[in-house]
Amino acid sequence: MHDAHIHLAMEPLKSKLPKIIDTFLEKDGKYILTQSTDLEDINTSLEIGKQYSNTIGVALGLHPTFFEENTIEKGNHTNIHKNSKELLNKFDTILEKKIHQITAIGETGLDYYQISLQKDFPSNVKKEIKDIQKESFRRHLQIAVENNLPLSIHARDVNGSDECVEDVINIVAQEGKGLARGCFHSYTGDIKYLQSILDLGFCVGFNAIITYKSGEDVRTLLKKTPVDRILFETDGPFLPPQSVRKNKKIKNKFAQPGDVKEIIEVAAGVKNISPGELERETDKNYERVFLK
Ligand SMILES: [Zn+2]
Repeated sequence: MHDAHIHLAMEPLKSKLPKIIDTFLEKDGKYILTQSTDLEDINTSLEIGKQYSNTIGVALGLHPTFFEENTIEKGNHTNIHKNSKELLNKFDTILEKKIHQITAIGETGLDYYQISLQKDFPSNVKKEIKDIQKESFRRHLQIAVENNLPLSIHARDVNGSDECVEDVINIVAQEGKGLARGCFHSYTGDIKYLQSILDLGFCVGFNAIITYKSGEDVRTLLKKTPVDRILFETDGPFLPPQSVRKNKKIKNKFAQPGDVKEIIEVAAGVKNISPGELERETDKNYERVFLK
C-alpha cells in the first residue's frame, strides 16, 4: 500500500505523526509521498522525510493557489507579477540546494477554481495570477525534467469549464518534452481528457472521493484507467474516507495514510479485481514512477 499524495507537514497530521505512521505500517503500508505547498513547509517536510526515510519520500513544490493567497495576504493588487517572481526565485534557490534530498516535484499545477471564488479580484488581477501560475508550473516542469524527477500535478477547473485541464495538458506536453513523468493527483476533470493524460505517460491518483456517494464521475474515471496507471493517495488532511466522514463519534475528521486501505477496497470493487492484487499492482506503479 502507498499514499502518493499527502501533506504531513499540515495539522493535525504533523502532531500525530508517530501514531499515524504506525497505523500505516500495521496495515502493511510501504510508501508515502508528502507534498509541500509553499515556502514555509519545505523544512518541516524535509525533516519528516529524514525521520522516516524508509517510508516517506518528499516532494517540494509551490501549490498553484500559493500566488493568490500571497496576493490576498499582501492586500494590494499592484506588483503581483514582481512579488510572485520574487517568491518563485526564492523557491528556485531553495530547491537547488535541496534537490538531492527529494523524491519528486510537487505539488504543482494550475487551479482556476479558487481564483473564481475571489469575488473582489478584478479580471486583470485574475489573469495576472493565472499567468504566474503557468510560469511557476513551467518552471517546476523544467526542474523535474532537468533532474529526472517525477511530478505530482494538480489541475482544478471551475465547474463546467475545461480551460484549466487543457492548459495543464498543453504545458506538460510543451515543457515535459516526452520526458516528464508522474501523477495527475486527484483528477476530477472531464473523462474526455483521460486519454491525453495517459498519452503523456502519466498516472492518475485516486483518493477517498471514490468512497463518497457523490464520487460517481471519479469512479467512472477509475473504471477507464488501466491498472498499470493507477496510484492511490489520501490528499490528507483533506478528504477523509466515507467511514470517517459518517462516523459521528469522530469529531476531528481528517485523512491519514492508513485510509488508503479503504480506498483500495472500494477501487477493487470498481475494477472488479481483488483488493490484494490491486494493492500489489499499484505498489509496482509507485515504485516505477517515484523510486526509479
Ligand atoms: Zn494536495
